[in-house]
Order: sequence, then structure tokens, then C-alpha cells
Amino acid sequence: MRQHRIAAIGGDGIGPEVIAAGCRVLEAAAAAQGGFALAFEHFDWGSERYRRTGRMMPEDGLKRLEGFDAIFFGAVGAPDIPDHITLWELRLAICQGFDQYANVRPTRLLPGVRGPLREDLGRQIDWVIVRENSEGEYAGVGGRAHRGLPIEVAMDVAVFTREGVARICRHACEIAMSRPRKHLTVVTKSNAQRHGMVMWDEVCAEVTAQYPALTVEKMLVDAMTARMVMKPGSVDTIVATNLHADILSDLASALAGSLGIGATGNVDPSRRRPSMFEPIHGSAFDITGKGIANPFGAFWTASMMLEHLGEEAAARRLMRAVEAVTARGDVLTPDLGGSATTAQVTDAVIAALAGANA
Ligand code: NAD
Ligand code: MN
Repeated sequence: MRQHRIAAIGGDGIGPEVIAAGCRVLEAAAAAQGGFALAFEHFDWGSERYRRTGRMMPEDGLKRLEGFDAIFFGAVGAPDIPDHITLWELRLAICQGFDQYANVRPTRLLPGVRGPLREDLGRQIDWVIVRENSEGEYAGVGGRAHRGLPIEVAMDVAVFTREGVARICRHACEIAMSRPRKHLTVVTKSNAQRHGMVMWDEVCAEVTAQYPALTVEKMLVDAMTARMVMKPGSVDTIVATNLHADILSDLASALAGSLGIGATGNVDPSRRRPSMFEPIHGSAFDITGKGIANPFGAFWTASMMLEHLGEEAAARRLMRAVEAVTARGDVLTPDLGGSATTAQVTDAVIAALAGANA
């Protein structure tokens, strides 16, 4: 029987709650599907550990993760520890250390979920945003001088490399090709950012030319936000820079109803190192420990991870089960207007898994 080794890192706040629920659902999906098994190892990395030891993860953390087939990650962030520590010393350390250069975020309005758009428009949302996950404004290059003086100056330099742009564009083309509409929008801001963004346009034109079956269009990021709201059905797969796609994907998740639903993969398409899958939400201090965190984001994430592991049938079965439960409408957590607990939603999805088709 095939076996996949999963590193489970719950992290902070509601992270451990939704990851525990996600592991239960993954076990049930594997059992319902048959043919493979999952072996979980749990890591207590995060802010608790930081308070105890001064480190979010052990010094050899990346080395310990190296041999896993995938990482299932909750969230990081604590009220008493600065974000640059919680984020950079755990989540981003893994993303960068394993060169997970593609951040892939699917967005759909799940059945029974009501988003802020008019119903007929909301139903048209079916997107995959492919975010460049290592360059741009997040490269950490820049500086600040003459602090507090009238001549103070501060710079964040957006760093783009030809190969960095080419590889994210290739990955976006592969994703677009795997979808029925075979439609890719390359988003930049080349009218204002005249160096990096112009190179993006050029490199993406070269890469997309190698996919003749794909319909490709260019769009400026500001116009794209309006289009996602006004004509959501005209968009399919989107590729954009780290910063632009960060903003577009928060818009996307809001349009899809709740932060508690969205899922993301931080992927190394070369598959030399493990990829990391996480719900998009943070540690949600306001509801931590109450047992009411929405686990659908973790379940969708789990489905993406199964797909990445080559277990496509189990991945589809899990999404069918999630959709069967959202469509029922009577087992939803408070963020979706219901009164169910995390455990009740998890039990409902596990029960639905037995009946769901792959
Ligand atoms: P958040 O996502 O933690 O919470 C925003 C709001 O959404 C809160 O009201 C919260 O209760 C609600 N919410 C989020 N997930 C939910 C779920 N699964 N079910 C029900 N409600 C949910 O964002 P925030 O409050 O801006 O950030 C809190 C901390 O999390 C900060 O330290 C931040 O840096 C961190 N953060 C981490 C990640 C990550 O690990 N990838 C992402 C975003 C924020
Ligand atoms: Mn963001």
C-alpha cells in the first residue's frame, strides 16, 4: 500500500484546532478511498515553543522536515510576539528554505455559502490565483536613512529575476492547462513600475507562447480588482507578483464568503523538497480555545495536499464531502451564520465521506 508521510504543524491560536480536525478527516478520506495510508508526525512548533526556548522551531527544523512528502500547516501569530518573529522564523523560513516558490490559491463559492456579491455573480467565481512566493517586495531588500529628519528616506526594492518570473509563469500555465477553460490572465502594473513589471510582461509572453492551446491575456492589477467584482466569470487562472497576488487573493477570499474557508498550497513544483499546505486564515485569537473555528479551510487544504500527493480520487472525494456538508446548511460554524462546533462539522464531513463519490 502507498504511504505518505505528513508533517503536521498546528502552530498558534486556532491552528492546532483546525489541523487536528484536518488530520481526522484525512484519515477518514484515506480509509474511505483505500489504496493508501497517511503517517502523521506532529510538531509543537510555534509561539509556545518560542516563549519556552526562544525559537519558533529547533535549529535543525528544516532538516527534520526534509524527508516528509508534505507539510500540513495551521497558522502562526501571537498577541505578545512581533509578527516578524512568528512569521519569518517559522512559516516564511519553511517557504524560503524549501524554495516553495508557487503559492496556489483556488477560490470558489462553496454550495450553501453566501458571499457579499449578488448571488448570480458570486456563483461565477471559480479562480486559481498563482502567487509568486519568493521575490518582489518580499525579498527584504531596501533601507531607511536619516530617521526622523525631514530628509528621511525609506525604500523597499522589488527584486525580480528572469528565472523567478519564468518558473512561476510556467507553473501557472500548467495549472491553467489542467482546467476546462484553459485561460490565463497575467497581472502586472507595467504602466507605473517600468522595470520589473515590464520584464514580467516580456518573460510571461515568452513562456505563454509555448502553450498554444492556452488563451492568454494581460491586465493591470488595479483594473483586475474591479473585474473580479464586476465580472467574476470572465477570469479563470491568474498569475501575479508576490505583492499583487497577496492583495488579489484576500479580495478573492472575501468574495468567496469567509476567511475560514480558503486554502493555499506553498508548492515547490520541482518536487525536490516537501510542499506546505495551509488554510489562509491566521491564528484568530478572538475565538481560540472556544471550539468554534471553521475547519473547512483546513479540509480544503487537506484536499489540495492529497492531490499534490497523487491521490486525486481521494482529494475529489473529500471536496464532495465538504460540499455536501456546506450545502446542507445546518452544520455551519458561527462565522458562516451557524451554531455548530468544529467537532460537529468534522463529524459531519467524516460521515459524508463514506457516501461521497470520488
Ligand atoms: P485571522 O485570520 O487570524 O482572523 C481574522 C478574523 O477572522 C477574526 O475575527 C477571526 O476570528 C476570523 N477567522 C479566521 N479564521 C477563522 C476560522 N477558521 N473560523 C472562524 N473564524 C475565523 O487574521 P488576523 O486577526 O489579522 O491575524 C491574527 C494573527 O494571525 C496575527 O498574528 C497574524 O499575523 C497572523 N496571521 C497568520 C497567517 C498565517 O499563518 N498564514 C495568516 C494571517 C494572519
Ligand atoms: Mn495576505
